[in-house]
Amino acid sequence: MSKKNEKKMDAKKLAKELLIPRSSGFSQVSEKELEKANEFCESYKTFLDHSKTEREAVKTAVALAEKEGFVAFDASKKYKAGDKVYYNNRGKALILAVIGKNGCKNGVRIAAAHIDSPRLDLKPHPLYEQNELAMFKSHYYGGIKKYQWTALPLSMHGFLVKKDGSTVEISVGEEPGDPQFCVTDLLPHLASEQMQKTLAKAIEGENLNILVGSRPLDSDEGDNLVKLNVMRLLNEKYGITEEDFVSADIEFVPAFKATDVGFDRSMIGAYGHDDRVCAYPAVMAALAVEAPEATCLAVLADREEVGSDGNTGLNSEFMRYFIADLAQMEGMEPRHVLSLSKCFSADVNAAFDPTYASAYESTNSCYLNGGVCVTKYTGARGKSGTSEASAEFMGEVRALLEKNDVLWQTGELGKVDGGGGGTIAKYVANMNVDVVDLGVPVLSMHAPFEIVSKTDVYMAYRAFFTFFDAKD
Ligand code: MN
Ligand code: MN
Repeated sequence: MSKKNEKKMDAKKLAKELLIPRSSGFSQVSEKELEKANEFCESYKTFLDHSKTEREAVKTAVALAEKEGFVAFDASKKYKAGDKVYYNNRGKALILAVIGKNGCKNGVRIAAAHIDSPRLDLKPHPLYEQNELAMFKSHYYGGIKKYQWTALPLSMHGFLVKKDGSTVEISVGEEPGDPQFCVTDLLPHLASEQMQKTLAKAIEGENLNILVGSRPLDSDEGDNLVKLNVMRLLNEKYGITEEDFVSADIEFVPAFKATDVGFDRSMIGAYGHDDRVCAYPAVMAALAVEAPEATCLAVLADREEVGSDGNTGLNSEFMRYFIADLAQMEGMEPRHVLSLSKCFSADVNAAFDPTYASAYESTNSCYLNGGVCVTKYTGARGKSGTSEASAEFMGEVRALLEKNDVLWQTGELGKVDGGGGGTIAKYVANMNVDVVDLGVPVLSMHAPFEIVSKTDVYMAYRAFFTFFDAKD
C-alpha cells in the first residue's frame, strides 16, 4: 500500500475534538466578566485589609453576613427554607448557613476555607531588654521561610484577657501614623558567616525577635528601663501588665495593605491570600445564594496552617456538631446527612512560577489567570496525608463548572517528590463526605506578600455560588 493514497487526517479538527485547549484562560473570559472580576476584587482588597487575623476575618465576615440578614444560630429553634444563620466558634472560626428548600434531606453543600495564615505569634513571656533595646520573643505559626520575615514592616494584632477577666484588643501599625515593628537582619558587610548557611539555617526561629522600643524610662534608678518604658506605655494605653501577655493571642503580620500588581492591574499582592482568597468568595457566595435546594454552608476554619488540630480547626468536631444540629431539627440522623453531603475544600494551590519552573511539572500545574483550580488530591510521598476526590465527584464538579461557564483548570501541588502539602479536605472526607479541593492559584504562597489573579478570585466566587445554587 502506498502512503500517497492514504487520506490525510485533519490534525486541527481532531485536536479540537479530542484535546484540552491549551490557550490562556484569560482569552476565554469576556470583557464583561473581567469588569465584574475587577469590581469583586475591590471589595476583596478591603476585606483583606480588615481581616489580617482569624479573629478579624470572623468579625468582618459576621458584619457582612448580618447586613444580609444572617442571625446567630440557635440549636433549639427550627429553621425554614431561605433562613440565614451563622455559628461563631470562639471568635476564630465561623459557619454561615443558608437553609435550603430540601434542607438536609439530600445532604448539605459545604465550601470550607481557612482564615489563619502564617505569621509571628508572641511567646507567653515576650517582652525583654537587651543592650538597651526592647524586643518581643516570637514563635512563628505555620510554614514560613524565616528569612522572608526580617527587615519587613510588621503590625501587631492582639487580644488579651486581663486578670479581672476583662478583655482588650490591640491593633497597632495598620492606621496611617501608627508606629510599626520589625525583625532586624544582619548587614551584608558583616554577614560572611551567615551567608554561608543554608536558607533554613541562616535565620533561626529563636532570632525572630521583634523590635519594639529603644528609649529608657526617665529615671535615676532601676534596670531594664527600656523594657519598663514600653510596659508603661502599654499600660497607659491598654491597662495591661506584663502578666497579661500570658492570657493573650498576639500576632504580628506584614503591615502593608493589599495592592494591585502589574501595569495592567491584573493581580493583587497582599498578606494572607492563603486562604482568605477562598474564604471571601465562599462568604460572598453564601450571601448571594437565594433559596438554594440543599442547605449551604460556608465554613471559615482556623488552625489549617498548623494541621487543623484544636477546637477551631476542622480536625475537630465543630462542623460535625453544627451539621448534626441541622439534621436533628429535621428529624434526620446526622450520619445520614454527612454521607450524602458534598464539600469544596476551598484552598489555594501553587501557581506555576516560570522563575522556579523546575519545582513544577508543567503539564499538571495550575496557572495564573487559568481560573479556579480543582485539585483531585494533594499530599506528599505518593499521595500520603490526603484524601482523593473520586472520579465520580470530579466528573460531577467538572460538569457543573462547565455548564455554568466557570473558568477552571486542574493541577497538582508541584512535582512528585518535590515536597507536598495538605488541606482540610481529608478531615471532611473522613466524615464520609465527598470532597474535592478547589481554590485560587497563588504565586509566592506563604510569603509575606502573595500574588493572585483577579480573574481567578472572581472565578472562585462563581464556582462556590454555582455549587451552592446547584440542583440537589
Ligand atoms: Mn491554605
Ligand atoms: Mn497554607
